Amino acid sequence: MEKTFVIDSILSICKSIGFPFTTKVKTDKWKADVVVDCATYKIAFNVCNLPRNVEDVYLAMHQERVCGCWMLLPSFRKIVLSKLPCFYIQDIRGEVNVLLHKIREEEHSLPLDDFIHSMILGNIRYTETMKVKYVEVCFYQKICWKCHEKNHIYLINKLISTEGVEIESGIDSFYPEIVNGVKQYLDANSGLNIKMGEIKPRYSKFHHGAYMSFGCAYCDSLFGSTYIQDAYDNLVFCVKTLPKARILISRDLVVPANRWYKRDLKY
Ligand SMILES: [Zn+2]
Repeated sequence: MEKTFVIDSILSICKSIGFPFTTKVKTDKWKADVVVDCATYKIAFNVCNLPRNVEDVYLAMHQERVCGCWMLLPSFRKIVLSKLPCFYIQDIRGEVNVLLHKIREEEHSLPLDDFIHSMILGNIRYTETMKVKYVEVCFYQKICWKCHEKNHIYLINKLISTEGVEIESGIDSFYPEIVNGVKQYLDANSGLNIKMGEIKPRYSKFHHGAYMSFGCAYCDSLFGSTYIQDAYDNLVFCVKTLPKARILISRDLVVPANRWYKRDLKY
């Protein structure tokens, strides 16, 4: 992956949408490979292996209404993805894309041109919280530890916001709208052959009390929290092949997100 290839892509997108640009910009406080003039703001692109002092430079640019964007060439020296606008370019079998976020093994990336175009138009954004619109659950097969019948439980795979932001779950699996939504989904899709026991409080000797739980559809035995955690630990290996359902959340449910995303109003 050559730096000039990425810079040429930026320039050709600027030309196609008619935005003025300047290359090799150097001021007292910062420098950039390309600065794009987007009328009310500017975007300063830097294409490099490993950026230095990103935070300071970003703030210096910000004071001049310039939004910094660092595009990192494929490198073995991975830095941690953070709220700073640093994005890894990936070249996967000749397809060049830019990584925004990762959920388990599922990478959220955009084709290079789409990323550059969206960045220039102000549609690549960072958010600390998001309002959940859908919860995607997947149905995971469990054999009852007691009667050995085939059962299913559901695991929360991801949360999807009104703007199409996706994050790994950080909410209670037994949130009432999820429990009801899954029940309605299974009632309407009985042909899927997903057999799930009732979700209700069950007594646990270990916990000296009753708690909301999954259980066997046949003998009503409790599926304890370690049993469920095992399934979550295994999820990364099988999530792609599991049956899934999207449950609509109509109440206000705001959760931490802390990630970059492309604003997408189709949701
Ligand atoms: Zn059972």
